[in-house]
Amino acid sequence: MAVMELKEVWKIYDVGEVKVEALRGVSFGVEDGEYAIIIGPSGSGKSTLLQILGCLDKPTKGQIFIENVEVSKMKDRELAGVRNKKIGFVFQSFNLLPKLSALENVELPLIYAGVSPKKRREIAKEQLELVGLGDRINHRPTQLSGGQQQRVAIARALANDPAFLLADEPTGNLDTKSGEEILQIFRKLNDMGKTLVVVTHDMRMLDEGSKTIKLLDGKIQSIEVNTVGNT
Ligand code: ADP
Ligand code: ADP
Repeated sequence: MAVMELKEVWKIYDVGEVKVEALRGVSFGVEDGEYAIIIGPSGSGKSTLLQILGCLDKPTKGQIFIENVEVSKMKDRELAGVRNKKIGFVFQSFNLLPKLSALENVELPLIYAGVSPKKRREIAKEQLELVGLGDRINHRPTQLSGGQQQRVAIARALANDPAFLLADEPTGNLDTKSGEEILQIFRKLNDMGKTLVVVTHDMRMLDEGSKTIKLLDGKIQSIEVNTVGNT
């Protein structure tokens, strides 16, 4: 099943008299269980594409489907629903709440989803164990390394069992070793069948995924399916 599909997506920004074509007819799909890496130089349209894939913005033209439901014509409120139920976000800057423990941070999306206290504690623990932080659940973000904080953020993103994880430069604020930790977690999650979409300019991630989509000047320059390693 296609988790996500873009058909001829255009994004045109109006800047006074000038029109900036940030995306110019982008089409691709991500299948269930795929690990897609979207890579491209600065200015190629990655952030714009990320906003659209994350249902944070709508295309000027073209269509987007998430699990075969067209989201490109949805009203903002409906779009927020899709965002909360279907997408697990991972950001460069972790975005954890500093006063809450790792466990409480992971529980947050479950609170919003109305999951009972007992059940959400159970799920949050499970997710933290999955990312190798079973022994750190009561630590606050400041008591954790950058790599560990990002792992909490990944556990939080997984808590609602989203259709896919959408990561924005997940290794961008990390040193090489912590970055490698995150890549290992992503590999493991993908091996378990999770669908991952990572937007990055980190060339180290080039061969990580099962599919690499290269953006240039708002267009897809190439899509390479990686048959070695991840499948
Ligand atoms: P990347 O993330 O790859 O650097 P962006 O999506 O940020 O690419 O930018 C693609 C193009 O769109 C650039 O020319 C950028 O200046 C322009 N752009 C991005 N966001 C806006 C905006 N809000 N208003 C006007 N132009 C924008
Ligand atoms: P950076 O790492 O470049 O500081 P982020 O990766 O945190 O930025 O955010 C990337 C984009 O996602 C931004 O455009 C921002 O508006 C949006 N964003 C950041 N945090 C959230 C959030 N918690 N919920 C929804 N959108 C967010």
